[in-house]
Amino acid sequence: HPTDVPGLPPGVPEHLVESGIEELYPPQAAAVDAGVTDGESLVASVPTASGKTLIAELAMLSSVERGGTALYVVPLRALASEKKAEFERWADFDVDVGVSTGNYESSEEWLSSRDIVVATSEKVDSLVRNGAPWIDDLTCVVADEVHLVDDPNRGPTLEVTLAKLRRINSGLQVVALSATVDNADEVADWLDAELVKSDWRPIDLRTGVHYGDAITFDDGERREVPVDRGERPTAALVADTLEEDGSSLVFVNSRRNAEAAARRLADVTESALTPDERAALADVADEVAAASDTETSEDLAAVVRKGAAFHHAGLSADHRSLVEDAFRDRKLKAICATPTLAAGVNTPSRRVIVRDWRRYDGEFGGMKPLETLEVHQMFGRAGRPGLDPYGEAVLLAKDHDTMDELFERYVWADPEPVRSKLAREPAMRTHLLATVASGFARTREGLLDFLEGTLYAAQTDEGDRLASVVDSTLDYLAANDFVDREGDEVTATSLGHTVSRLYLDPMSAAEIVDGLRDADDPTPLGCYHLVCRTPDMYELYLKSGDRETYTELCYEREEEFLGRVPSEFEDVRFEEWLSALKTAKLLEDWASEVDEDRITERYGVGPGDVRGKVDTAEWLLGAAERLATDLDLDCVVAVREAKKRVQYGVREELLDLAGVRNVGRKRARRLYEAGVESRADLREADKAVVLGALRGRERTAERILENAGRRDPSMETVSVDVEDGGDTS
Ligand code: ADP
Repeated sequence: HPTDVPGLPPGVPEHLVESGIEELYPPQAAAVDAGVTDGESLVASVPTASGKTLIAELAMLSSVERGGTALYVVPLRALASEKKAEFERWADFDVDVGVSTGNYESSEEWLSSRDIVVATSEKVDSLVRNGAPWIDDLTCVVADEVHLVDDPNRGPTLEVTLAKLRRINSGLQVVALSATVDNADEVADWLDAELVKSDWRPIDLRTGVHYGDAITFDDGERREVPVDRGERPTAALVADTLEEDGSSLVFVNSRRNAEAAARRLADVTESALTPDERAALADVADEVAAASDTETSEDLAAVVRKGAAFHHAGLSADHRSLVEDAFRDRKLKAICATPTLAAGVNTPSRRVIVRDWRRYDGEFGGMKPLETLEVHQMFGRAGRPGLDPYGEAVLLAKDHDTMDELFERYVWADPEPVRSKLAREPAMRTHLLATVASGFARTREGLLDFLEGTLYAAQTDEGDRLASVVDSTLDYLAANDFVDREGDEVTATSLGHTVSRLYLDPMSAAEIVDGLRDADDPTPLGCYHLVCRTPDMYELYLKSGDRETYTELCYEREEEFLGRVPSEFEDVRFEEWLSALKTAKLLEDWASEVDEDRITERYGVGPGDVRGKVDTAEWLLGAAERLATDLDLDCVVAVREAKKRVQYGVREELLDLAGVRNVGRKRARRLYEAGVESRADLREADKAVVLGALRGRERTAERILENAGRRDPSMETVSVDVEDGGDTS
């Protein structure tokens, strides 16, 4: 019972009971027995939606009660604010929660006044690099979704960060939350932690495969779900769930498929709506439409009106939470999602349908089956405790052989073991440089010793392998001037320090430095292309026809590119060059005031993607500016201007205006056209002109004038004729 849990702040157990936690779930009770509220480290490997978050909260609250500070590490930035909002319920018990989202190169000292801090592993890594002092005072760290140490791209950062935090503070309590994985015991050994491993779920889960006219479940039972001629199995399954008044979550393999499937399923859900539901959905749809004026927004609103939705990483945060809330409130009857939804976001559903179990994989060069672990996490979203009698997770098969394969691969199979990916080159060069630059290790031996504390070391038997990876990485870092070596000693150069603090992949830094060295006055496109071809920028894929388009552009604007253009015969390199050019062109469009809507259409991306590219470019160009300054290169001013144009999304002549708070790219353009061309003009201009350009919005005008430093911003006596028109900038 919650009131039997020792070590919590007074009142917390009672509050838990009031909020519906009348009894601990068995894995939670096991965690308490293992001492999680007593400072013991713990790995909890339990199924999705079985109450891992509460285990973490019990650990953090008891740590705070003992006078400590806790850190909650999330895998995705989108989850950071969600978790913070969740933990804020402890504010009544004097527990302050902070979320660290700021840019990389800061130590965010204000965080030291918080009791619980939520951050991504990248952010924590950078805080360690920048020597944030409060890191030393941490007493408890929670790693959410720790099985992601297995992820080739982001896993190593989590792994190294945990190793560093444990080294800084040897008494640190580590609570690692994991999906059910085979080798959770290895992870527990690595972290010197107790292990709670369980298959327990708060609601029964039935898994099965739909083929032909029925679902066959794991217990051998069959449920007839006939598919009419011309109908798709997914539609039949969603309709079948609706008949029992249940909702469905459909997983597909791409954003485009999510949107298309939602459009089709909307017709199915619409026919099941009551008038009240229709009215409630109309309100949600209006909110969706008002959240931004893009095509995605309209498309989403259109399907929401009919009771369906799509959900993927291209959605804005507002859209995402509107969809999630409406689904939890049972207004939406079906969501079509890409697998990102399976991680973290709490959207339980009566039936989960895994429609696509293969996904395009660039490195693999074709369609690849999803990992068992990932599919099991999708399964885990099935069933709403207290609302549904049970949850159902269904895969779809087109033929009998596929049905057998799906049973083997996903229904009967155990998830894959978690394996460290630290030995991959980008991970090694980034983390070795950071480890040297932040003084964690000063010699080759010291580096090896530090690496002994990683999962990688715990999982490799060949000791030589670690040494040889370290040696080849150090060679690379020395050759590019990031470290100096003398005998066994390794020190970071000033360039190396900068690169580590800027949180750049050393290879990105090498590419940038190389490109900028001989550039006197690079154009914005030249700068954009340079940062787009670094490993820190995810490029846009080339679609059919793109190769020709961008090859042409490549020759047209050849003069502008920094560094050597690969020849068309260097197939792979040229292809990458063109992908980077496509991304750079998107940024140039954005910085030339092309409408967001046009951009999403032209490049086949969502508004969230445009924002993502712009943010990454801003960060990388800021880093490029710093590197150019440190190296005393001629191009500093040009790089800064390219950065500002991306940051504000405007042409050169608007930079000054767009820098005033609350102005933005569209208003800046209208002010400019009305003859108000600069911040100084804003201070002097005729108020009626300003108001006219701002379409009669007095409050906005006052705020802008105030931000521009005008002494008398009041609009009280000003009147102006305005044409009607939506102001959305
Ligand atoms: P996980 O992190 O394991 O995926 P969550 O922590 O999100 O799962 O928990 C899923 C849901 O179960 C949440 O809505 C949570 O409030 C609820 N829950 C957790 N523990 C209990 C409990 N002991 N009794 C009732 N509900 C609980």
